[in-house]
Amino acid sequence: MSPTLVAIVVFVLVGAAHLLVPRLHTNRSRARLLARCRAARAVVITFDDGPGRLLTPLVVRRLGEAGVPATFFVLGNNVRGNEDVVEAIVAAGHEIGSHGDQHVHHVWSWPWAGLLDTHAAWRRLHDLTGLDAPRIPFRPPYGKLNLLSWLWVLWHRTPVAMWTHDSYDTAQGADVAPEALAASLRDAGGGVVLLHDFDRSIPHADQKVLAKLDAVLALREHGFRFLRVGELLAAGR
Ligand SMILES: [Zn+2]
Repeated sequence: MSPTLVAIVVFVLVGAAHLLVPRLHTNRSRARLLARCRAARAVVITFDDGPGRLLTPLVVRRLGEAGVPATFFVLGNNVRGNEDVVEAIVAAGHEIGSHGDQHVHHVWSWPWAGLLDTHAAWRRLHDLTGLDAPRIPFRPPYGKLNLLSWLWVLWHRTPVAMWTHDSYDTAQGADVAPEALAASLRDAGGGVVLLHDFDRSIPHADQKVLAKLDAVLALREHGFRFLRVGELLAAGR
């Protein structure tokens, strides 16, 4: 085999591993999360991309009124200047997870960019909040890892947590009505629902998020319990 052909074969194999290995892992992780939710008849409410100066306090208040805990996958870049909001999240009994620093797409960026962004978020979260960041749950932006960032979180034994039910609260086209979101969780026997608490300029965006949150919270009337991501992951060990 010529050196050129060897180089092409190696390039293709490494490229395939770069994309496929983390994808298999995250797909398996989603299936495992759903199985654990079903076993515990549990719903896990998660918020990504925050904290938002305006929306996060509204969400925290609504969760407090319902007496329900949630997990907030914050962006390191959004924590800066909003340290008090993060403190309020923790003081209300919720869990902080990491969602990276600058919302870097691990697949559509340079191979090392996701790893660097993940590490930058850990450092910033630790400096601003004192959290032992590699040990808190991590959700990569867009739910995507590449081979390097996957190995990085594996090496640090960081708990990676995806979602099973998208609320489509940020989508421009696709959407799901609050009642349909709740029905889908109910029919599945539970799940990890994805919402977002960053501040946005679109009119009525906050109401849309809160309406979906209220519909999910109403699942308690159907016998569901609410867990934080860390509790769900620990339940399966
Ligand atoms: Zn995100």
